[in-house]
Amino acid sequence: MDATAILSAIACDEQALGFMEHVTRHVSSVQDYVLQLLLEANAGTDYFQRHGLHGIPTKEEFRRLLPITTYSDMEADFQRLADGDESKTICAARVLEMLTSSGTSGGKQKLFPKSPSYDQEFVALNRVARAALNKKAPYASRGKSLQFFYVRKPGITSGGVTTTSGLSGYFTSPAFRQRKLDPESGYTSPDQVILCVDYQQASYCHLLCGLTQSQEVVSIGAAFASTLVRSLKALKDLWQELCVDIETGRVNDNIVSDLSVKHAVNALLKPDPKLAALVRRECSKSNWRGIVRRLWPRARIIQAIVTGSMQQYVPAIDFFSDGLPIASSIYASSECSTLGVNLSPVCSPYDVRYSPFPCFVYYEFLPVSSSSSSSPSRDDLVQLAEVELGREYELVITTRAGLYRYRVGDVLKVVGFKNSMPQFSFVGRAGVLLSVDTDKTDEVELHTAVTTAAAVMAKRNRGDVRLLDYTSRVNLSSQPGHYVVYWELSLDAAMESMEAELRKCCSVMEESLSVVYRRNRREGSVGALEIKVVEPGTFDRIVDHVVFVGQGSIGQYKTPRCARDPAVLRILESSVVESSRAR
Ligand code: AMP
Repeated sequence: MDATAILSAIACDEQALGFMEHVTRHVSSVQDYVLQLLLEANAGTDYFQRHGLHGIPTKEEFRRLLPITTYSDMEADFQRLADGDESKTICAARVLEMLTSSGTSGGKQKLFPKSPSYDQEFVALNRVARAALNKKAPYASRGKSLQFFYVRKPGITSGGVTTTSGLSGYFTSPAFRQRKLDPESGYTSPDQVILCVDYQQASYCHLLCGLTQSQEVVSIGAAFASTLVRSLKALKDLWQELCVDIETGRVNDNIVSDLSVKHAVNALLKPDPKLAALVRRECSKSNWRGIVRRLWPRARIIQAIVTGSMQQYVPAIDFFSDGLPIASSIYASSECSTLGVNLSPVCSPYDVRYSPFPCFVYYEFLPVSSSSSSSPSRDDLVQLAEVELGREYELVITTRAGLYRYRVGDVLKVVGFKNSMPQFSFVGRAGVLLSVDTDKTDEVELHTAVTTAAAVMAKRNRGDVRLLDYTSRVNLSSQPGHYVVYWELSLDAAMESMEAELRKCCSVMEESLSVVYRRNRREGSVGALEIKVVEPGTFDRIVDHVVFVGQGSIGQYKTPRCARDPAVLRILESSVVESSRAR
């Protein structure tokens, strides 16, 4: 459906909620119509012809002839677009931008074509999300919002196509920059701060602008919970400099060098020694529990995605905010900007449910039992209106940008219905073991990194050291969070310096992990990887424990490559004999 038309139909909260009420009553016909439009729009593409679809395909032909796809099936087509190929390979619209996903394939960042309406569709999703939030929490829009939004510098492919992340592209798009501004609500940071590509400068200025307008702030957030926690933790390191700036009404030149950012922030500041004294008093206390409420006394709600891998940050957010409600409103991705919206956003972070926005994308669902087969059959796919309460499905989408029956990799569970629209909880990303920020490391990536590092260690020690078994976890107790990998070694001869050897192995592992992991490490949102060597026999003790508590039998037991069971973690931690971290 046309994003511009939908946007004008949902200009205010009442219209947005009325619109959702209507489409959630007519899920099946809306989705049928969306599929018809997608097929018409992309009729005549190479992709359709390759699969025997000529002219405008019918829905029946679509279902019968188009296969379920994954990134590797589509990679060559996406690469052609990235190389600047303007023929109608997979979609009719000319692709001027590609989106860099945090998902990886074989360690490389995935790139997706961006449809010209991607940003507008995202605005539509946000409008509905905001309307739903305003209905449940009207106070959320009666003041300003301190949002830790960041953008990255765009890239360019050798074919001249711009590459950007979904959020960065949105913040730099006319859809965001030409939004209607309201001096009473809106963000505490000027756009220059949101658009600053230097993370340190942007982070400092978000805090500074948020603190100087602390009496007006009613909500605090970030796109993802990890970013919010990281930004609040940065306050611990920066509050003294921030207080000087609040006192003098001038931003610190040594920290903020970007001229447009500096001018925009200085224009907001005026000397406020009283506020500086308050911030100093609160931040110098040893206990930071509830710091958000103390510094932003009118803040009533936290806004951030806290589902999926972000759920691990809920305790930290609860700590900083002393239990303010959290609204996790939006579910989106590089493949599609409107995967889901939370229509009841003031709820427990453990009870969030998303409704797909049905107007732009055609959704199908692969029951999880079939999705684990190596080649699931298209006959297993069910439509949005056909999913069953309580079942888990992998999400499959067809979009205007040329993704056909594409497996997003997310597993969702049907937990209820809004009219005839299913509502889903986010179960997880298929195969992801470790994730601190936007990095998503799967079992194969971890295994490759571990075995590469172990081979280096074995070679450097003439085969006297062998890796017997390993597992891993994420450690968020210090910031930034980091990966911990437990190794049990067989040592035929003592090593000269095990600590130094392990440090080398940590670096080899990090180099072998995905491009997104390495970028997050460079940018500081993920801490240095740690290897902990456990004493001989530790993994046998874990098997004994698992068998003893009845969670497995010796014959079937396989070491989980990510240890989550607290008892198993206790065994591992109590057996550590040596550890080291990458630099
Ligand atoms: P990206 O392509 O980098 O934008 O990452 C998109 C992926 O992030 C999705 O496929 C999900 O796995 C995850 N994601 C996005 N929004 C949410 C959400 N609200 N809850 C859980 N995971 C999410």
